[in-house]
Amino acid sequence: MIPARAWLEVDLDAIVANYRDLRAVYGGPVHAVLKRDAYGLGLRGIAPVLAGAGCREFFVEDLPEAHRLLAALKAHPCPPPQVHVLAGLGGRPPRAFAVKGVRPVLGSRADVARATAVPGMAVTLQFDTGLARPGLTPDDLAALGPALARLDVVHVMSHLAVMGDPDAVSNHDQRRRFLAMAAAFPQAGQSLPSSAFVFAGPGWRIGAARAGSAVLGTRHVANPAYRTRPAVRMLAPVIDIRDHPAGRRIGYGRHTLPRPSRLGTLMLGYADGLPDAFWSRAPAVEVAGRRCPILPEVSMMQCFVDLTGLPDSALPRARVAVVFGGGQDINAFAGRLHTQPNRIITGTGASVPRRHVTGARETGARETGA
Ligand SMILES: *Cc1c(COP(=O)(O)O)cnc(C)c1O
Repeated sequence: MIPARAWLEVDLDAIVANYRDLRAVYGGPVHAVLKRDAYGLGLRGIAPVLAGAGCREFFVEDLPEAHRLLAALKAHPCPPPQVHVLAGLGGRPPRAFAVKGVRPVLGSRADVARATAVPGMAVTLQFDTGLARPGLTPDDLAALGPALARLDVVHVMSHLAVMGDPDAVSNHDQRRRFLAMAAAFPQAGQSLPSSAFVFAGPGWRIGAARAGSAVLGTRHVANPAYRTRPAVRMLAPVIDIRDHPAGRRIGYGRHTLPRPSRLGTLMLGYADGLPDAFWSRAPAVEVAGRRCPILPEVSMMQCFVDLTGLPDSALPRARVAVVFGGGQDINAFAGRLHTQPNRIITGTGASVPRRHVTGARETGARETGA
C-alpha cells in the first residue's frame, strides 16, 4: 500500500553489508553508533539486524534510547549487548544506570563524582583530546584518581576532529594524547576512530571503531576511494493528477502556469523537514523513471510536480515520486543542496514515517518518530 504522505525507505540489507565491509576493512571490532534514533532512520529496526551481523556494542544518545535499544534486541536471539550512553548521566541519578550492559559515558568531573554513589559501577570514560566537548583532561584524571578507583572503567574513548583529512597534524596530536591518557587504564577497552578513520590505514586502528555514518551509508569522509552503500530513499505519493490551461494560477497563487500543463499533487511539504535549499533550488524528483520539476509553490504538506513531459502510458506508474535515492543517492542529493547527508536524514527523520525493507520485502517495521 502506498502511504498517505512522504516516507523514508531504509534498506536493512545495505546497512548489514556496510557493517560487514567496515569490519573487514578495519580489521578490528566495530561498534555501531545509533544515537538520535539511528540518525533518524529508526533504531528499532536497525539495531536487531546489526546485532544479527555480530555487532555487540552500541552507542546511543541517552538512557531512554538505551532502553529502546535493549527492548528492540529483546525479541531477537543475540548475546547481551553493551550500550554506551553518550550523554553521560544526563542529570539522572547514577542508580538509574544500574541496568545490565548499560554504561554512561562520563566526560566531566561532576559526572564521575556523582557516579561514585554506585561503587563499582561500570562506566566508559570520554577524554578531551582536542575537541573541547565534554571529556576528561589529564588534570581531571589526576584530580579524580581516588574517585575513579571506585568505578569499574571498562572502556575509554575520544573523538577525532578532522574527518576530511585523517593525516591532519591535530589528529596526530589527539591520538598521542589519547594513548597517553589511556595508559592509566590498562584493563579498559579503547576506542578512538569514527567512520572516517576506519579507512585511514592501520595507524588509526586504535581499539574499537565507533561508526554511524559508514554503517548507515551516508558520506563520512572526503575519501573517494571508499564508498558505502546508500541505504535510504525518500518517497512521496502523487495523490492527484490534473491538466491545466496556460495562465492558471496554482496553489496560493505564487505561480502562474506559462503553458498548458499536467500537474501532480505531491504529498511533500515544508513540514517534511527538507532543508530550505531544496525548495529554493528548483528541484526535480523522479516520477515513472523521469526527472520531473517541482513548481515554486510549496505548502505545509504538499507541492506540485510538473508531469507534462510524461507520456500517457507512464501515468499508471506515476503514483510515487522518488525525492532522493533513485538516480540521485542521498549523498549526491545532500551535495547538491550544499549540506551533509546526516543533516538530511536527521532533519526528515523525526516526523516522516520510515519503512524498513530487506531485499524487495518490507519487514513490517513501520516507524514514526521516537
Ligand atoms: C556520532 C559519533 C560517532 C560516529 O560518527 P560517524 O562519523 O557518524 O561514524 C562516534 N563517536 C562519537 C563520540 C559520536 O558522537
